[in-house]
Amino acid sequence: MPFHPPAWVPALPFDPPDSISIGDFILDERYGRHPLGYSHHPFTCGLTGKTYSSLEVKERVDYLARGLAGELGWQPNAGSEWDKVIAVFAVNTIDTLTLAWATHRLGGVQSPANAAYSAAELEYQLKNSDAKALFTCLPLLATAKEAAHKCGIPDNRIYILDVPQVLCGGKRTPTGMKSVDDFIHQGSALARLDPLNWESGHGAKRTAFLCYSSGTSGLPKGVMISHRNVIANTLQIASYDKPSRDLKRGFANQSDYTEKVLGLLPMSHIYGLVVICHGSVYRGDGVVVLPKFEFTSLLQAIQTYKINALLLVPPIIILMTKNKETLAKYDLSSVWSVFTGAAPLGKETAEDLQRLFPTWAVRQGYGLTETSTVVSSTSPADIWFGSSGSLLPSVECKIVTPEGEEVTGYDQPGELLVKSPAVVLGYLKNDKANKETFQDGWIRTGDEAVFRKAPSGNEHLFITDRIKELIKVKGHQVAPAELEAHLLTHPAVNDCAVIQVPDERSGEVPKAFVVKSPSVGIEDNERVVARQIQQHVEKHKAKYKWITGGVEFIDQIPKSPSGKILRRFLRDKEKEKRRKD
Ligand code: AMP
Repeated sequence: MPFHPPAWVPALPFDPPDSISIGDFILDERYGRHPLGYSHHPFTCGLTGKTYSSLEVKERVDYLARGLAGELGWQPNAGSEWDKVIAVFAVNTIDTLTLAWATHRLGGVQSPANAAYSAAELEYQLKNSDAKALFTCLPLLATAKEAAHKCGIPDNRIYILDVPQVLCGGKRTPTGMKSVDDFIHQGSALARLDPLNWESGHGAKRTAFLCYSSGTSGLPKGVMISHRNVIANTLQIASYDKPSRDLKRGFANQSDYTEKVLGLLPMSHIYGLVVICHGSVYRGDGVVVLPKFEFTSLLQAIQTYKINALLLVPPIIILMTKNKETLAKYDLSSVWSVFTGAAPLGKETAEDLQRLFPTWAVRQGYGLTETSTVVSSTSPADIWFGSSGSLLPSVECKIVTPEGEEVTGYDQPGELLVKSPAVVLGYLKNDKANKETFQDGWIRTGDEAVFRKAPSGNEHLFITDRIKELIKVKGHQVAPAELEAHLLTHPAVNDCAVIQVPDERSGEVPKAFVVKSPSVGIEDNERVVARQIQQHVEKHKAKYKWITGGVEFIDQIPKSPSGKILRRFLRDKEKEKRRKD
């Protein structure tokens, strides 16, 4: 018997529609969205205060779609979505979602890339997604151009998403480069576009976002997230949160209650993209957008914009608990909820934060790119530190032992399998990974989990370990296979394996086990060679992928008879070594 949401969780108010685009869902009140208006501001820049009302956003989406149609020669009902892929390589901006919804209005796909990427990492995504155009921001323009040129994307298909001038170091948009505002201006003078003529089912089959995740193994893969997937998770989050918010705040049935939420986490990652940008905007909340993490700007934004809900990842919470004096300088009294996800939040850290702010609801959610984010979440009325809360509406879970047997009782660990209308369409051009990951309507998460019964009587999900080959650094994905392939290009490396090791600031960081190549003589200093290997990664990979867990030389990489690296063996060995130290 699979596990289901507890009895208090309401069913979805209606079946997630499958014949409309995400933008049409989010910008239309007919689907239960908080009323559009001049007083609701979906996105406000946390540095400058620049903002648009939801009615203005709706108009900007329409004009931007017309402008892009004029520029790129695309029409809503012509061609496949794969002919209309727009990549985005930028820090968070108040127009990032305007651009996504305009792309969807044209029947196209947005493929967001991590703003920390190097040119080579961006190039991989541009090629893999076959992007036809690229939006970037001034601070990242040089990297964006370097990658685009290698993929045949010409300069006149690279466009600008505006960011606050303080981030641009005095640079101005080069003459002739078009920005979102230019397209909106042009589009306002162009003819209306035909509506998308989708029939029932189209929205469930068509990709809206192509995010990148390495899944359970191998290199990052394009995750095809349909319009209906995002609509479904938005509805799941909203229906789950409604009674919990009402309970916490005693505002039962006040459907006009909205709040300010923090928009710091990258909109290129599924958590920022779906939970913050879609879940919040649908409920009528306002997202205060911050383009990059800087501790005091974050605290300043909370104070200035009176932010009510902080959506964070564990390393930022750890930083908060270790910097009481800095926190005390700001008025954080508007906050009532802190939500964390993307990596485990330790029970002790949650307790530390609660001690600092006894009135805050410290909540944890669990999800993955492949489930369009949230599978489970803590209700403010039923908090149990260490748990990832209860299942959202329309989610079913199974726990399966390594022998393939389904576990039905509490406290019995196994791999977590999920069924939900938000489970994605699959990986782009990757039959092998699709077969391994998506089976009979269930997705294998690669996470080890247990269900436990809380004192409240509700079932809670606990993530107890990670079985899959994935390292989570500050919530970002690092694929061991990607680092191993790169390390092998260094002349001193004959063979290697990368695993995660715990790190106080980042949660986890990569560590490399290396078999030296015969070219490294015994007279070569191991510390120097190890540093050279680390530098090889630092030169080519985003900072969060750096081998800060160290390089250890070994004689042989443990492998199965079929040649698979036995990472578990290395992880256990490392744990044992750290326990002894
Ligand atoms: P991503 O696709 O980048 O969101 O990564 C998803 C993975 O992050 C999951 O499969 C888990 O391994 C990990 N993860 C996300 N949320 C949690 C959580 N609350 N506790 C433990 N691990 C988590």
